Amino acid sequence: MQKSYLLKDLNDKQREVVSAPYDLNLLVLAGAGSGKTRVLVNRIAWLITVEKFSPYSIIAVTFTNKAAIEMQQRVNQLLGVIKNKILIGTFHTLSSNLLRKHYMHVNLPKDFQILDSNDQYYLVSKLLNVLNLNEKQWSPQQCIWYINNKKNNGLRPKDIQIKNNKIEETLLKVYQFYQDTCDRSGLVDFSELLLRAYELFLNKTDILQYYCNRFTNIFVDEFQDTNFVQYAWIRQLVGKTGKLMIVGDDDQSIYGWRGAQIENIKRVIDDFSDIKTILLEQNYRSTKNILKAANALISNNSIRMGKKLWTKGIDGEPIVIYCASNELDESRYIIDQLKYWNENNNSLNNCAILYRRNSQSRLLEEALIKNGIPYCIYGGKKFFDRKEIKEVLSYLRLVVNRNDDASFERVINIPARGIGETTLDIIRNLSCKHKLTLWESCEYLLREKNYFKRASVVIQRFLNLINFLEKETKNMNLHVQVNYIIKKSGLFDMYKKEKNEKGEARIENLNEFLNAALEFKRQDESTSYLQSFLSYVSLNSSNEKKIIINQDNVQLMTLHSAKGLEFQFVFIIGVEEGILPSYMSIYKDQKIEEERRLAYVGITRAMKKLIITYTESRFLYGKRVNPLPSRFIGELPIECIKKIYLTSPINNEKKYLNFNSEVYKNDFEYKVGQLVVHDKFGEGKIINLIGIGKECKLQIVFQKQGVKWLVAQYARLNYLNNK
Ligand code: ATP
Ligand code: MG
Repeated sequence: MQKSYLLKDLNDKQREVVSAPYDLNLLVLAGAGSGKTRVLVNRIAWLITVEKFSPYSIIAVTFTNKAAIEMQQRVNQLLGVIKNKILIGTFHTLSSNLLRKHYMHVNLPKDFQILDSNDQYYLVSKLLNVLNLNEKQWSPQQCIWYINNKKNNGLRPKDIQIKNNKIEETLLKVYQFYQDTCDRSGLVDFSELLLRAYELFLNKTDILQYYCNRFTNIFVDEFQDTNFVQYAWIRQLVGKTGKLMIVGDDDQSIYGWRGAQIENIKRVIDDFSDIKTILLEQNYRSTKNILKAANALISNNSIRMGKKLWTKGIDGEPIVIYCASNELDESRYIIDQLKYWNENNNSLNNCAILYRRNSQSRLLEEALIKNGIPYCIYGGKKFFDRKEIKEVLSYLRLVVNRNDDASFERVINIPARGIGETTLDIIRNLSCKHKLTLWESCEYLLREKNYFKRASVVIQRFLNLINFLEKETKNMNLHVQVNYIIKKSGLFDMYKKEKNEKGEARIENLNEFLNAALEFKRQDESTSYLQSFLSYVSLNSSNEKKIIINQDNVQLMTLHSAKGLEFQFVFIIGVEEGILPSYMSIYKDQKIEEERRLAYVGITRAMKKLIITYTESRFLYGKRVNPLPSRFIGELPIECIKKIYLTSPINNEKKYLNFNSEVYKNDFEYKVGQLVVHDKFGEGKIINLIGIGKECKLQIVFQKQGVKWLVAQYARLNYLNNK
C-alpha cells in the first residue's frame, strides 16, 4: 500500500500523527468528530505497511463492543487480508481472554464464570439476606457501588483501612463476604476482570514480560474514560519499551460515576515525559449549527482543558427543539419525523434516538412497532437479561461449573420441585458456616443424612439432573446441547404451559437463543464450546436483542453507549430537568458538569440533523409530573435553534427563562439554586419556582427524597449557605 493512500484526505495535524516516527509516544487530545479514531486506525495501518511492524505487535483498546467492532471494520477496510491478527477489543473482553489463558496464575478455576451486572445484583441481595442486613437500609445497589468502586481503584478488602465509620465497616464486611463467595464459586464480575488482569501482570512478571515483548504498540481510544486500574494495566503493558498512542477528549468524559478519572490525561503527560501531544480542532462530522451549539453548551463547564472546534462545513438546518405535551406526543412526533425522513429516500440506519435512561425506550419501542418501523437497541432491556434466558443460562452454567452459587440459587426451584425458602436457608447457612458452595452444602447435607427426608429426595434429584445433563450432552454440538438442556430441565414445558402472550414470547426468545448458539463461532480453542459461548453471552449481555443484520433499522441507545458513533440524523429525547441532567446530579455542580458532557456527547453524534425533545407532562418515578426543559436547552445559542410548541409558546418561554436566570428572585428571596433544609425531607436545592410571594410554588430536589413541589408558605424552609 502507498504511503500517500494512508495520508490522503487528512489535514496537516492528522498527517503529523499518522506518520510520526515509530518510536514516539503520542497523545491526541481533540474534540468530538475531529478524526481521533480515524487517525488511530490509520496509524495502525501505517505502522504495519510503512514501518513493517507485525500485526501481532498491535493491541487496541476501546470502550464499547460496538466501538470495537467499528474499529475492526475500519482497520479491515484499510488493510484487507491480514485483518484478524490485530488484537482489538474492549478492556473487558481483553482481560477476560487473558484470564482464561492464565486462570491458574490468578487462582481461578478453568471454568470461571463472568457475572454481569444483573447477576451481581442478584448475588449481593442474596448475601445481604444471609448477613441479616435489612435491604431497606443496605441496598444492594449501594453495596455494589462500593465494591465496584474499590475494585476500580485497585483495592482489595485487606487494603482498606477504616477509622470510626460504622457504615463503611458494614460495606467492607459485605465486600469481603461477596468476594469470598465469588472466589469459592469461581465467579468474576466486570470490575474483577480488570483488577485480576492487573494483578496478574503485577504478580507474574514473566507473564507480563511475555506480553510486553509481544505488544510493542499499544493504542487506547476514548482514553478520558479510563479508570485507575485500566490505566495501571496499560502502563504495565507499555513497560519500558512499548509505544503508546492515546486519543481522547476531556469534554467527553462521562463515566466518572464508574470511577473514570479525567486526571489520567494529566497523569499520562507526567508519566511519559517524551510524549508528543497533538491537538486537532477541525471537525468533519457536523454542520456549523450543530457544532456551534455543542461548543456553546460545553463552554458552561468550568473543569475543562479548553478547546474550540470549527468546521468548514455548511451551516445546515437549525436544531429543532420540540416541546411535546406529554410522552405520547413526543413519540408521535418522532415517528412522524422518521417517516418523513424515510419517505425521502433516507436510510433509517442513519438515524439514532438517544436517551439518558434505559426505561425511556419502552414507549418509543411500542410506537415504532405499531408503525412498522424497524429498530434495534443497544443496551437497555437486554435480550440475555430476560428471565427465561437467565434461567437457561443458569442451567448451562451449572453444567459447566457446579459451584456457581448465583446460578444455583436461581434455578434450584425452577421449574418448581418443592424446594422452598426453609430448605434453601438451611443450605445457605451451611454454606456460610463451613465455607462451602451451595452445591457442596447440598452434598454435605445428603451425606449427613440427619435431614428430613422429603427435601433430601428432591435435592438429590436436582443434583442428579445437573450431573445427568453434563454427562449426556458432553459430545453434542453446541446448539443440540443447549436444546437438550432446555427440554430436559423442564424449562420448555414450563413456559409452554404459560398460555398467555408472555409464554409465547418466552418460547420465541428461547428459540432465538438457540439461534445464537447455532451461529456462535468459538474463537479460543483452549476451552469447550459451551464455556466460550457462556463467556460470549456475559460479555455481550449489554448488546441488545435481535439485531437483524442487513435490515434498515433505526438505532436506539443510551447517550452513554453512543460514544464514538455518528449518525446523519439524531434525536435526543426527554431533555428535561430530572432526566438530563438526572435528578441525582442536580444537587452537585461536579455531577452537573458530567451531565453536560453527556449532553455534549449526544449533540456531537449528529452530522446533519438534530432534534431535541422534552415534554410538559410525563409519568416519572411512578407519578405524573410536569418537568422543566433542561437547563442545557437554555444554554444553546438562540440563532442555532428553532423551537416548536404545540401549546402556548409564551408559557414555555417564561418557564425556562425563569429557570435559567440566576438572578431571578421573588419577594421572599427564594431563588433557583438556593440550598434549603426542610424539617422532614432534609437538605435540598430549589430548581424551579412558579408564582410570587409566599404562595409561590417551589420545586425542590431533595438529596434523599427526590423531587417535590412545595408551597413556600407551608414548607417552612431554612436557607443553607451556597458554597
Ligand atoms: P469522537 O470524539 O466522537 O469519537 P473522533 O474524533 O473519533 O470523534 P472520527 O469518528 O474519527 O472522530 O471522525 C469523525 C468523522 O469525520 C468521520 O466520519 C471521519 O471519517 C471524518 N473525518 C475525519 N478526518 C477527516 C478528514 N481529514 N477529511 C474528511 N473527513 C474526515
Ligand atoms: Mg472516536
